[in-house]
Amino acid sequence: MKSVKGRFAPSPSGRMHLGNVAAYLLAWLSAKSAGGSIVLRIEDLDRGRCRREYAEQAARDLDTLGLTPDEGGVFAPYMQSGRGEVYAAALERIESRAEVYPCFCTRAELHAASAPHASDGTPVYDGRCRRLSPDEISELMKTRSPAMRLAVPDITVSFEDRRLGHVSQRLARECGDFVLRRSDGTYAYQLAVVADDIDMGVTEVVRGSDLASSTPRQIYLYGLLGAEPPEYAHTPMLVAPDGRRLAKREKSLDLGSLLATAPPQRIIGALAHLLGIIDRREDVLPRDIIGDFSWDKITKTDIVIDNEVFLRDLSTK
Ligand code: GLU
Repeated sequence: MKSVKGRFAPSPSGRMHLGNVAAYLLAWLSAKSAGGSIVLRIEDLDRGRCRREYAEQAARDLDTLGLTPDEGGVFAPYMQSGRGEVYAAALERIESRAEVYPCFCTRAELHAASAPHASDGTPVYDGRCRRLSPDEISELMKTRSPAMRLAVPDITVSFEDRRLGHVSQRLARECGDFVLRRSDGTYAYQLAVVADDIDMGVTEVVRGSDLASSTPRQIYLYGLLGAEPPEYAHTPMLVAPDGRRLAKREKSLDLGSLLATAPPQRIIGALAHLLGIIDRREDVLPRDIIGDFSWDKITKTDIVIDNEVFLRDLSTK
């Protein structure tokens, strides 16, 4: 049997947040409880938003929390910004097996089209550039550089999520033809993440459930790349009492503020309790609770957190 390999894939666009810690704790426990390992890959393709300092900070934060990865880090070949060749090869392979077409639509045009929105909020592309003739394409090429889009068939892709159970999506209707490379030459998240997980031998993907709607697209790409998809587990989101997602913007729950309030053991213990791994709130490190972990225990709903109450509880234990 293949040994289990999980991954942490932070986008270094800010300090790590409590929600990220929850997902990484679950990724780490899932791999370790199966005798496996974890690779750290830095998802810094969005050059405008990502900064090297945040990646270095993330690696230090993981260490502080007792979530040290076994492989990878803030260096080549584990930084997506330096992996263009891997993505180019993946795109070439996909192009040899499926229809990939140039798309000249601008962002404004995409949003103006009255198409329904996919489950992740992006509009479902209406396929207009798929119908361009070769002459029209060469004409447009003179003034615009296109994105490359994958034509998706009208099929249903489904998978068994370790926490959410059966998940399925009608690819053409719910997400539509999607971008593999942007007009500025940057490879898109969907392609990069799949090419990397294959290249790095990842066998299980544990990440926030905000990404569950991307998984059917990624499974479809695995097929085109001739690879076996990994196991998936999408982790609970942390939400404010009004239902809003807690995001990196919420400074008070970034790791800087959290570590100024409480030691790592208390933060891990509070999260492990909220996630359903341990029955009582107590100070623990990830390695202390490997034996307590199982996916069956993990809460099926999102986790509601009131910042002030959470921070007060952390500081008073
Ligand atoms: N880089 C993404 C993030 O930080 C995670 C992507 C993934 O796990 O597939 O949200």
